[in-house]
Amino acid sequence: MRVIDPSYIILSDLDNVSLVERIESCGRICYKSEDRIATGSAEAFVRKVILNGHNSVAEMGVATLEVEVDLESTLNDFFACLPKFFQIDRIGKKKILISGSVRAWRELFVDSSSNKMVKSMVAFLAAREPILFEDITPQSGWHSQTGVAVEKLSLAAVEALDAGLVAKHRHIAVKFFVNRAVTHEIVRHRPCSFLQESQRYCRYSEDKFGSEVTFIRPMFYQEGSEEYALWEEAMTRTEAIYLELLKSSTPQAARTVLPNSCKTELIVYANLLEWIHILRLRCSRAAEPSMREVMIPLLADFKDIFPRVFGDLVVQ
Ligand SMILES: Cc1cc2nc3c(=O)[nH]c(=O)nc-3n(C[C@H](O)[C@H](O)[C@H](O)COP(=O)(O)OP(=O)(O)OC[C@H]3O[C@@H](n4cnc5c(N)ncnc54)[C@H](O)[C@@H]3O)c2cc1C
Repeated sequence: MRVIDPSYIILSDLDNVSLVERIESCGRICYKSEDRIATGSAEAFVRKVILNGHNSVAEMGVATLEVEVDLESTLNDFFACLPKFFQIDRIGKKKILISGSVRAWRELFVDSSSNKMVKSMVAFLAAREPILFEDITPQSGWHSQTGVAVEKLSLAAVEALDAGLVAKHRHIAVKFFVNRAVTHEIVRHRPCSFLQESQRYCRYSEDKFGSEVTFIRPMFYQEGSEEYALWEEAMTRTEAIYLELLKSSTPQAARTVLPNSCKTELIVYANLLEWIHILRLRCSRAAEPSMREVMIPLLADFKDIFPRVFGDLVVQ
């Protein structure tokens, strides 16, 4: 058995790769198959998860577009589609800023493929990364739309927006290495996208997991104390039972004995506005101490990275 401290990584590197690559990079956390990332692997991975309906993987890439139309009525027709799971701001009479994940764009196209703006935006995105839309878009004849100009905002352009707009349109992913009780609480935050290491697919008896179960050190008990010794005894015994069960059953069956202390990797992807909400709740004194253990340093990091958005945030 392995015991580690909780931690997190802000996945800012992924903000500089293609949507397909970032979707693969995040999606592989479920299977812990990051070692299989290679040239050309992203396309096959993305096709497979889309085909299997593993839909939340397609939420791991967001694009922000600036769209200008010739006629105001074109915008009204778009709003009549009631687009869901997007951040939309009207930045001019005939101009909007719109951010959404690949999944949101895909579902908008399936629901409203005859709308001129929807067609134009998805055509724009599909031209950049065809694989993301190849299964739901016609082979030809739907791309050209007049009266709608679409541009993608670079990361630098998103970050240069007014602070209020940055908070809504800038999305950032954080990968947590925490216990299962903490992940269970984090996933209650609904406006986020999540992907987590799956105890259904991961067989911890395999070499790549060191043939052992990894637990998060409990911050409640001092090493060397009687309580810590009891906790350690419980984990050792649980691991032995889990490994024994794996000899005759699947990981999804054996995992039923695994406890809250199990290390779990969780990617949380949200806009900065939702991160403010999460950090307000999860750094506060009322929050669970193991949650505060990772959220308080994360808030300090966000203050350094996005001072205009998090600079004034004080949590008691
Ligand atoms: C100290 C503490 C103790 C807790 N104890 C318990 C407990 O004992 N049992 C328990 O079950 N949970 C508990 N929770 C979880 C808590 O009730 C929330 O589910 C969790 O914190 C998610 O936060 P949220 O609902 O404010 O916002 P999020 O889900 O992060 O949503 C962000 C914002 O989106 C909007 N929103 C999202 N979905 C909806 C919706 N369906 N309707 C309206 N507005 C929406 C709201 O404006 C909301 O502020 C606890 C949380 C804390 C911090």
